[in-house]
Amino acid sequence: MISVGVRSTEQSGYRVLTPTSSVFAEEKAGFAGIRFTMKRIVVYCLQGTFTQAYKECGYSKDKHADWGGRLEKMMKIVELISVGTEILLGNIVNTNAAFLAEQCAAMGLSNYYQVTVGDNEKRLFDTIQTAIDRSDIVILSGGLGPTQDDLTKETVAKVFGKELVEDSRTRKQIAEFFEKRGIKPTDNNWKQALVPKGAIVVENPNGTAPGLIVEAGEKCAILLPGPPNELIPMFRDSIMPYLNQKEEGIIYSKTVKICGMGESKVESEITDLLERQVNPTIAPYAKTGEVHLRVTAKAVDEKNAKKLLKPVVKELKARFGSNIYTTEEAVTLEQAVVDLLLANQLTVSTVESCTGGMVAARLINVPGVSEVFKSGQITYSNKAKRKFAGVKRSDLEKFGAVSEEVAKDMAKGAAMLTKADVVISVTGIAGPDGGTADKPVGLVYIGCYVKGKITVKKFQFSGSRAKIRENSVSAALTLLRHCVLEYYSEITFQKK
Ligand code: ATP
Ligand code: MG
Repeated sequence: MISVGVRSTEQSGYRVLTPTSSVFAEEKAGFAGIRFTMKRIVVYCLQGTFTQAYKECGYSKDKHADWGGRLEKMMKIVELISVGTEILLGNIVNTNAAFLAEQCAAMGLSNYYQVTVGDNEKRLFDTIQTAIDRSDIVILSGGLGPTQDDLTKETVAKVFGKELVEDSRTRKQIAEFFEKRGIKPTDNNWKQALVPKGAIVVENPNGTAPGLIVEAGEKCAILLPGPPNELIPMFRDSIMPYLNQKEEGIIYSKTVKICGMGESKVESEITDLLERQVNPTIAPYAKTGEVHLRVTAKAVDEKNAKKLLKPVVKELKARFGSNIYTTEEAVTLEQAVVDLLLANQLTVSTVESCTGGMVAARLINVPGVSEVFKSGQITYSNKAKRKFAGVKRSDLEKFGAVSEEVAKDMAKGAAMLTKADVVISVTGIAGPDGGTADKPVGLVYIGCYVKGKITVKKFQFSGSRAKIRENSVSAALTLLRHCVLEYYSEITFQKK
């Protein structure tokens, strides 16, 4: 084993792996290449198999002769700066940072610092200066608006020693924006047409402040508007392609979304793949009631990246089967459930106790659900369970409201009353009070009726009232999907 072109750990974000058991395992498997993990990059290469290693990563040997330099380029360091006093005060939650961090990680960028700074010129200046010294790409969000306290653009220009000049296209767009809305722009609106000299102006179809990219040598600052409905589409549509083309290769990823399995179970099924990952990498993310596996490939172009992804995604499909509800980033669990009901022309009703309508709300998130959704009831009291879901008084007395029998009665009763093909019922103890030794807090029964066949599943969740309710909703959607696939669906995931 030889190691190639490597410097220190912390600064460059990678280190050499000394021969360990995992490397030997890969030696045996004939692997060669770059090994990524979430926290570090490990470089190793088997003697005499450079060509194969380059090929694995989609690079040609002649073009990229220097592994060390290559890697340094691959792992750019990104720093996030959120600008706004209201974030410091806790008045708004910094969802932009969470979004940007997740996207940057998926693109293979290293993120060591996230800073929040108020609308104060001196502190903002120092923050940007520090960031640009220690990172390659600095992404700033907020403070691009027209008011006095919006200082981001001006301060970035100062740090980079650039003057502000008017961008005529932006000025025209601002004029159009206001004209369309029949509003007269105020003087300070024109401030938004000023850009640091030489900056790349990024269009903002959802607002007046354009995004900006200011480049200086190998470094760059990316300025994004604060409102998430402007920042998110701008990042996806303009900044991601910019960052991708800046790199010689591209990063391409697919998300394999799994329901009905816990994180540790999922990880234990793919320990070998996680240990052996080279390119593509597999990163698990635990979500409420779901586990997402993001498979990321780095290659010269999209075609090669897709080629690298394909066998890994195929292997994951073979291992997790119908527990995978989608491999599309944009598809949610409720969307997958509604698609399944639509494909099978099945109508659905819900009857909920401890989730108080949350299952119905998740389903109704999906546009076009009106084709399948019939009705949603909240039968919280015993009386309501009897009156609106046809639950038998004797079952309530004998087994209690949180029981397999009542979940069954609710599903059956609602099916009779609403004439839906499929019904999901939920009854449980969300806490924090109301638990007993026999029926502790977090005990939830979920019933699913599919054309006469009823399945009831018992769950024991833990955590706060909110957590238990959220988990119950995910479990209900998962059970609904499972029952339809099992008992009714003509289409299966594989066929799709
Ligand atoms: P505007 O033109 O609206 O002034 P801006 O680019 O100047 O946009 P800010 O003034 O910093 O941005 O923020 C505008 C709004 O965007 C905030 O009131 C807030 O609702 C939202 N926002 C800003 N930063 C964040 C953030 N980090 N996370 C979530 N929302 C944010
Ligand atoms: Mg503002």
